[in-house]
Amino acid sequence: MKKSNPNPVVQTAKTGIEISIIKEFCKGCGICVEFCPKDVLALGSDLKTNCINIEACNGDALCELRCPDFAIFVKNPKKKAIKK
Ligand code: SF4
Repeated sequence: MKKSNPNPVVQTAKTGIEISIIKEFCKGCGICVEFCPKDVLALGSDLKTNCINIEACNGDALCELRCPDFAIFVKNPKKKAIKK
């Protein structure tokens, strides 16, 4: 059976910060919700993480760093890429 590519739900704040949530990967553990210092995330009725207040996001990516299933990604235009 052919697997389909993940289809993230993407929201972008006025600051340019972008949060992508891959619902297919989210198991609803709530770690990202608990660690978000700005109450940006919440578990929805689908028992998956939802972005409920994108404008409050500070782009620290704590949610992305802690997600054990790589289900959430944060793009912050103010953070510089690490040079290798
Ligand atoms: S980047 Fe930080 S403030 Fe934004 S949703 Fe993730 S944990 Fe919350």
